[in-house]
Amino acid sequence: MHYISTRNNRLKESFLNILFRGLSNDGGLFLPSEWPTISLENLNDKSYQEVAHAIIFPYIKDDVSDSDLKLIINTTYKNFNHQKIAPLFNIDKNKYILELFYGPTFAFKDYALQFLGHLFSYLLKKRKKKITVLGATSGDTGSAAINAFKGKEDIEVFILYPHNNVSEVQRRQMTTVEEPNIHNLAIEGTFDDCQRIVKELFVDEEIQSKTSLTAINSINWIRIIAQTVYYFWSYLQLNEEKVNFIVPSGNFGNIFSARVAKYMGLPINELHIVTNENDILYRSIKTGEMKIHKVKQTYSPSMDIQISSNFERQLFESSDRDSIILNELMISFSKKREVNIPNNILKNIQSIYNTHTVTDSEVLQTIREFYDKYDYLSDPHTATGLNVLNKLNTNVTNISLACAHPAKFKNAIFDAIKKEPPIPHDLKKIFDKEEKMTILENKKELVKSKILKLI
Ligand SMILES: *Cc1c(COP(=O)(O)O)cnc(C)c1O
Repeated sequence: MHYISTRNNRLKESFLNILFRGLSNDGGLFLPSEWPTISLENLNDKSYQEVAHAIIFPYIKDDVSDSDLKLIINTTYKNFNHQKIAPLFNIDKNKYILELFYGPTFAFKDYALQFLGHLFSYLLKKRKKKITVLGATSGDTGSAAINAFKGKEDIEVFILYPHNNVSEVQRRQMTTVEEPNIHNLAIEGTFDDCQRIVKELFVDEEIQSKTSLTAINSINWIRIIAQTVYYFWSYLQLNEEKVNFIVPSGNFGNIFSARVAKYMGLPINELHIVTNENDILYRSIKTGEMKIHKVKQTYSPSMDIQISSNFERQLFESSDRDSIILNELMISFSKKREVNIPNNILKNIQSIYNTHTVTDSEVLQTIREFYDKYDYLSDPHTATGLNVLNKLNTNVTNISLACAHPAKFKNAIFDAIKKEPPIPHDLKKIFDKEEKMTILENKKELVKSKILKLI
C-alpha cells in the first residue's frame, strides 16, 4: 500500500509521509494506491474499537504495528460518552438515525480528530519530532481539534476563527481550554480571511524554516478513513442485506467516507448527499456545471461552504484515476471559479449519488416536525438529512446521520420550537470557565509574528 495524488497518479508516498501534510506538492489530495476489501463475516459481534481496527489497519500497516494501533484506538474512544460510541436510533419503521455526537465536543468531527490526536502523539514520540498545527475554523473543526490536541507534548496548536462569528458554545469550547499549547486567534474578519491567512502561512519560508507546519483540516486522509468506521459499524447493528445512507454535506468529507466504505465492500444501496442553501454539490451533480456562488449564512454554519475540497477525490475516482484530466479541471476551476465536469465523469458520479438541497425554512420545519411527532430534537445540520429521510419511500433501510448535538445551536432550536434545548452536563461546565484568546487584526504579518513568538 502506498499513496498517490489526485494530480499525480504515479506518486509513491508512504503513510508517514502523507500523514502530517495537507496537500501533495502538486496541489492534489492523497489517496491510497488501492482499496482493500473487508470480509463482513469477520466483523459480526465485534466492538466499535475492533471494527475500527479492521478498517484502518490496512491503510497504515507499514508504519504502525497491529498492537500499537489497538492501543491508540482504545485510548481514543475511551472518553466517548456512549457505550456504543455511535448508536443507531430507530425513529420509525425502516428509518434510523446514526448519532455521532458522543465525543468530547458534541459533533462528529471528534470521531476522526480524537483518533488523529492520539496517532500524532504516538508517532511524534517515536520520531522525537515537534510540530505546529495550524488551522482555520468556522466552529466545529476548531473545537474538536483543540480538544484532541490539548496538553500534547510535542504539538503547538494555533486555531484562527472569525471574531464574533461563531456560536457561543463553539467559541467557549475553544477559549476555555487551559493547556498552554493551545492558542486561539480571533481574527477581525470572516472565515474566508482566516483560511486565506492560513494558506499564506503554509507557504511562508520563514515559518517553514522554524517549525514543521501541519494541517488538520478535513482533506487529511486519516480523517476520512476514521469516519468510514461508523458506516460499517451501523450496518453491523442491523440485520439487513443492504442499506441507504443520508449525509448532510459541506466539504464532502463525511459522504466520501461512505463511498470508501462501499469501495471496501459494504453493501450500500443508495448514497444521498444533502446540502443547505449553499448548494454547489447539488448543482454540480445535477447539471455538471461546477460554479462558485457567494457563501450564504444559514442555520447550519458547518455546511456553509462553496468549495467542497474533498469532491476532488470523487472526480479523480470517477475519471478512472486520470490525473491529467484532474489537473486541467481543477486548475481551470480555481482560475475561473467555474468549470464543466466532463460527461463521462458526471455520468459516473450521478450513478453513485443522489443529491438534495434543503432551505433554512425547511430546516426549522423539520426540527419542529420531528420534535412534535417523535419527541426527537435534532440540530440544524442533522435536520437537513431528516428532511430527506422523511420524504424517502423505499423498502430498503435508511440511515440518516446526526452530525452534532442540538445544544450546540441554541438559536436555531429556539427559532424552530420556541424553547431552548437542554444542555448536557459536560457542556454546561464551559459557561463557568474563564475565556482565553488573542484578538488580532485581519493581517497575516500579525498572525505570523504571534506564532514565531510562541513556538
Ligand atoms: C463538518 C460538519 C458537516 C459537514 O461535513 P463534511 O464532511 O464537511 O461534508 C455537517 N454537520 C456538522 C455538524 C459538521 O460539523
